[in-house]
Amino acid sequence: MIRVHDRTFRPFIRKEEIEEMVQNIADAVNRDFSGRELTLVVILRGAMVFASDLMRRLNMPVTVEVLRASSYRDQMSSPGTVSLDDVVPDIVGRHVLIVEDIVDSGTTMRELIKHFSSYEPASLNVVALLSKPELHQGRIQIDYVGREIAPDFVVGYGMDYAGQGRNLDSIWIVDESNT
Ligand code: 5GP
Repeated sequence: MIRVHDRTFRPFIRKEEIEEMVQNIADAVNRDFSGRELTLVVILRGAMVFASDLMRRLNMPVTVEVLRASSYRDQMSSPGTVSLDDVVPDIVGRHVLIVEDIVDSGTTMRELIKHFSSYEPASLNVVALLSKPELHQGRIQIDYVGREIAPDFVVGYGMDYAGQGRNLDSIWIVDESNT
């Protein structure tokens, strides 16, 4: 058990399992984009750790862009609105892979896809390390997913709770019985 701010979290996905999830995603991306150039758009800040592991397992020529999506919150509730950076990464005519840590309601991903589509990339795909299908509102495009999980709040491996916990090297899940 660990404590982050006022909450207790229990072990959920071990480091070795995360490595396997990332490798499986990399294998699929390497297969699907073989011989092409790929632009990763890393959604800050939650996806930084995942993206840095993923990109080192990709074989094709890769460029990396970042975009800050302010959908995260200080508490564990879902955001109502999503605000994106005004600066748009250079994606016109490129094969783009949006790299996200976790899809919850899907509001953030829906906004990101709408936003990027208008800049006419050659193709637009989405990778998420984790997804909570039970919370998706409508159909959300996720082309590669590490693992689908139940609708509980997680921290670690880049994901925070009220700003902390991103540095944990495994993924922890909130333990309501201890909070
Ligand atoms: P959505 O827009 O899909 O509801 O929420 C997506 C964003 O909320 C993610 O990019 C992430 O920042 C945050 N988020 C959703 N679920 C979790 C979670 O279980 N833990 C953490 N740390 N962040 C989450």
